[in-house]
Amino acid sequence: MKLALKVIEKMHPDWAKRAFRSKDKLSYFLDRIAANGDCLDWVGCKHAAGYGWAKWHGRMIRAHRYSYDLFVGPVGEKLHVMHLCDRPPCVNPEHLKLGTALDNQRDMVNKGRQGKRAGDNNKQSKLTGALVLNLRKRHTAGESFASVARSSGRQRRND
Ligand SMILES: [Zn+2]
Repeated sequence: MKLALKVIEKMHPDWAKRAFRSKDKLSYFLDRIAANGDCLDWVGCKHAAGYGWAKWHGRMIRAHRYSYDLFVGPVGEKLHVMHLCDRPPCVNPEHLKLGTALDNQRDMVNKGRQGKRAGDNNKQSKLTGALVLNLRKRHTAGESFASVARSSGRQRRND
């Protein structure tokens, strides 16, 4: 409980006031956090991806969403709660901000969390690179530019 009081003391007074209005939710929250540097990590139920799960009106919601709603204000169904600290288990309301699904995606791209798409691009550029190398090799081996160009044209049409 000591940590909990420290956390609330440091918080924006409006946020503390708001949280104190829902005492049950606040104490549920405070029982399940641990300080980790500036972050407050959820130590309750966890999702495989590292997010915390919190009970909210009989269902489970993401713990950082719970935190945002408890301290800052309603999230709204269509909005995402994003991490400024980029740490999924963190529920420090100061490290959270609201964004749309698009913001969230952009954020992930900026932070380089979209390996799959980059991989597809790589594959494509490798194929193109291989094709060019092959054509160059054939030209060096004595084939005329015209013939190489014709066959690469055909190849492209067959694609
Ligand atoms: Zn954090």
